[in-house]
Amino acid sequence: MKKKVSDSMEAVYPGSFDPITYGHIDIIERSAEIFEKIIVLVTYNVRKNYSFSFKERTEMAIDSLKDFKNVEVVSHDGLLVDFLKQNSIKVVIRGLRVISDFEHELQMAHANKALYNNMETFFLMTDNEYSYISSSMVKEIVQFGGDVASWVPEEVAVKLKELYKSN
Ligand code: ADP
Repeated sequence: MKKKVSDSMEAVYPGSFDPITYGHIDIIERSAEIFEKIIVLVTYNVRKNYSFSFKERTEMAIDSLKDFKNVEVVSHDGLLVDFLKQNSIKVVIRGLRVISDFEHELQMAHANKALYNNMETFFLMTDNEYSYISSSMVKEIVQFGGDVASWVPEEVAVKLKELYKSN
């Protein structure tokens, strides 16, 4: 019989969270009802151009998720599969919004599986309400003076305003 994917039913939700939005938080809330514990992994990729620093992205996630009992925020600079192996976690959560997400996510899921065959990627479909929300769109709207109160937590909206005020 094939080995089961997880004993502890912990799962990792990795992402840039640049910044965290209600779309991310919805995926976290729903997966926290399925898994015993969710580790929100704030990642760093040297090829990516982030708007917020690694520290700021992590702090915003910690602040926005402080009310969830079984959610922990961790930052990680390295390969996702290394984090999984080091922490004996075999489940990765990702969110899907549109077809273009699927192409990228499929490639990533296959690459991760090739690097670590014991892991599995679980996909959650975005809630209708959040399907059009992305970190980049939120930043664009704030840049042009728009209101994103219904897209990101208040403390994130404040950080966004500060970011574009100083630029
Ligand atoms: P990455 O740079 O790793 O893609 P993101 O922070 O952009 O990091 O996204 C992390 C994950 O959250 C991805 O799987 C992405 O598809 C998903 N996601 C982002 N926004 C939403 C949303 N509004 N609804 C559902 N899933 C989302």
